[in-house]
Amino acid sequence: MSRRGRQLKVGLLATDIDLPVESFWSRVEKGASCWLWSGPFDWDGYGLLSSPRSAGGRTSWRAHRLSWRIAYGSDPGKMYVCHRCDTPACVNPEHLFLGDAKANFHDCLNKGRYSPKGSGNAAAKLTVQDVRDIRANHALCRVSQEELAIRFGVVQPLVSKIVRRKIWTHI
Ligand SMILES: [Zn+2]
Repeated sequence: MSRRGRQLKVGLLATDIDLPVESFWSRVEKGASCWLWSGPFDWDGYGLLSSPRSAGGRTSWRAHRLSWRIAYGSDPGKMYVCHRCDTPACVNPEHLFLGDAKANFHDCLNKGRYSPKGSGNAAAKLTVQDVRDIRANHALCRVSQEELAIRFGVVQPLVSKIVRRKIWTHI
């Protein structure tokens, strides 16, 4: 396989790939603070964009990582693109920063999203902030649904519905 072929095969690491800038912006709703991706989304709440490659086939992009690349002109590579605003769907480059997995996790801790609560009460009332924290912990910090159920004192199927946006869809 040619060098170019190999580069295109790895897609996100290729330096000569065409960035789908126009289709990216066509899916961004710029708010006063966060710029929200209008979809589609990956399972964990991050925006997704699929674009054709010049060599054929398609490349799948994580919207916030693509935003970083478009705004700052560099490929984040193996670094995490983290959110200051705790909103996985946000693609405002000013809200993004680079970190490694450790930084990402500490960022979660520092923002108080690691908020253990009493467990065992399936009927515990969740606040709007709890719902946001559950989604952020799951998407940004990769905390499992089982772990979140314990921390927030609810049952796992409820956490599943929250992170899949089957309930509390207005938050
Ligand atoms: Zn934001």
